[in-house]
Amino acid sequence: MNKYKESAKGIIINIKHGVLKEGPGWRSIIYFKGCNFHCPWCGSPESIPFGKTELIYDDGSKEIIGQEITVKEVIREILPYQRFLKDNHHYGVTLSGGEPTAQWNFYFELLKGLKYFNFPTAVETNGSSPQFIASLPYLDLVFCDIKHMNAEIHQKLVGKDNKQVWYNIRKTYEAGKDLRIVIPVVPGYNDSEENFQEIANFLSPLKDGLTVELLKYGRHGIYKWRALGKDYPLQHLIPPSNRKMTALAKIIKNKGIKVNIS
Ligand code: SF4
Repeated sequence: MNKYKESAKGIIINIKHGVLKEGPGWRSIIYFKGCNFHCPWCGSPESIPFGKTELIYDDGSKEIIGQEITVKEVIREILPYQRFLKDNHHYGVTLSGGEPTAQWNFYFELLKGLKYFNFPTAVETNGSSPQFIASLPYLDLVFCDIKHMNAEIHQKLVGKDNKQVWYNIRKTYEAGKDLRIVIPVVPGYNDSEENFQEIANFLSPLKDGLTVELLKYGRHGIYKWRALGKDYPLQHLIPPSNRKMTALAKIIKNKGIKVNIS
């Protein structure tokens, strides 16, 4: 593996250590600040703006989100955890956000640095980066979102086209990486049978070893939209029923693909 640039700098929200999710074993999760999508259902809207962001909560208290940090500082913070093993899994690191790849230089150098120290690595991405495949040699696990199959609707919903997403998903599969597709199920936005049939058709050739996770739309981030001084765009939306989630999962399972609902 190549050496990495310790001085590469980025902005993160925070780092959580000893987490038992977003990959096998204990992990540190690094939440990057800034996202190039604008999903109206985003549960962490404070992570969308790049740079520092002020939140003002209902009780008048204030919080500044976003801290500058270098690759060297992140690795120095995570290294002490490396000795922790869980069920034979080495301690791992997941890059999340926001959208990690949107701060490309910091993301890429950090991944290289983590691999230099032999950490198992994962990324949670919206799949939109044109450079993404360059980071595959430094990744063990990729969580990639699918928001919608229809290009026009995708553009309208999140402000970006979806062609790069499909390309990156195919290339990740072809590279033999552990690939998990994450689909937020948002009533009236992407939960039609037609959309799920198209998703199932797209994923069918990639089904070996693939897991799909259906994420039930939730309203947990509403107070953060308020704290940002913004109206929550989906004010009257009700989370999908368990029956609906099961029916959508079945469309994908019918292609022989493993599906989890959460
Ligand atoms: S891609 Fe994720 S972080 Fe970005 S706006 Fe959408 S839900 Fe929020």
